[in-house]
Amino acid sequence: MKIDTKLVQSAGCPGDRHRAITTPIYQTATFEQEGALEFSEYDYSRSGNPTRAVLEQQLAELEHGTRAFAFASGLAALAAVTRLLRPGDEILAVDDVYGGTCRLFSKILKRSEISVRYVQGTTGEDFARAFGPRTRLVHIETPTNPLLKVVDIAGLAHVVHQHNALLCVDNTMLSPYLQNPLTLGADIVVHSATKFLCGHSDVIAGAVIVRDAQLAEDLYLIQNGEGAVLGPFDSYLLLRGIKTLGVRLERQQGNAAQIAQFLSGHSGVKRVYYPSLLENKSFGIHVRQARGNGAVVSFETGSIETSRQVVEALKLFPITVSFGGLQSSVSLPGRMSHASVPPQVASQRQLPVDLVRLSVGIEDADDLIADLTEALEVAESVPELRASAG
Ligand SMILES: *Cc1c(COP(=O)(O)O)cnc(C)c1O
Repeated sequence: MKIDTKLVQSAGCPGDRHRAITTPIYQTATFEQEGALEFSEYDYSRSGNPTRAVLEQQLAELEHGTRAFAFASGLAALAAVTRLLRPGDEILAVDDVYGGTCRLFSKILKRSEISVRYVQGTTGEDFARAFGPRTRLVHIETPTNPLLKVVDIAGLAHVVHQHNALLCVDNTMLSPYLQNPLTLGADIVVHSATKFLCGHSDVIAGAVIVRDAQLAEDLYLIQNGEGAVLGPFDSYLLLRGIKTLGVRLERQQGNAAQIAQFLSGHSGVKRVYYPSLLENKSFGIHVRQARGNGAVVSFETGSIETSRQVVEALKLFPITVSFGGLQSSVSLPGRMSHASVPPQVASQRQLPVDLVRLSVGIEDADDLIADLTEALEVAESVPELRASAG
């Protein structure tokens, strides 16, 4: 089955005697046993819940994995992956990772004597040079957020496996609709399902998906043993959101492409970040491993003040952290979602302070472009701002 069919035709509720077409919400903590020594499929909702099980089955299928685990947030999912490591182990990560991931790696894992090093490159060779004797996990996003750097997943998987390490790909930016890292050699896929998978900005959720049976067993032990599981109602909302992932993303990335093109031709915009605008080498890698460009567009105006003015003048883009929802939104990543990046890492990463990140929704593209046109005009018409932009 193709993905558009898989998204809609998931089993609503396997074995349900009423044959419900939509997955019911099993809002229950425990399940009665047949007898003192007779156990059924479910006993306690931390260990397993039918609503969550349908979601996990669907996530595994969408990412071409064998098993998936739903967590209370994207960061809970990531934290579970890091629990595979032991004191003394090292993580290599691409430098432009999500701010919260950076905080988890740099501030929290340090207490367990797990170290992290950030790699500026994007190819297998760049990471091969960075490998150390204790490197156990390589963690990447591609395209990265917010600078849209493209990392070669297959090339990196080859190098990682030569070193007996694990490759974990945070696939939040493109979702399983546009990219499937497990088919390119990654060992683990994580998602902040809060973003595109949910799509309606009404759930905080995360997921881990794997192929290998031993990894799956280890992750189940961690999920059940630490307990950061996704609740039944949130699992239901996520199942509902996933059904429209394809139509939403097609529309969102169509709008995003038009906006990227509009911004590229605008005199008040210094630089636009969108996969199709990357230089040939990066875009070539992107096209080999992904089926689309996604719906996040970033741009620079030349000064933090101009960017602030543009962001505040927009009417159809509420200022919010996060991305991937049906409704467009805007943020200043340097000041918002990435403020949790430790200063020394931030300066190494050279995140432009004037960077504006748009998450493009399903609205009419003409309306969105008209709004951007007006906001850029407002910013340009303020003389002292124009001076500081120079
Ligand atoms: C938002 C995000 C996370 C964290 O997910 P939460 O659901 O907010 O905990 C992790 N990775 C990426 C790429 C994200 O955008």
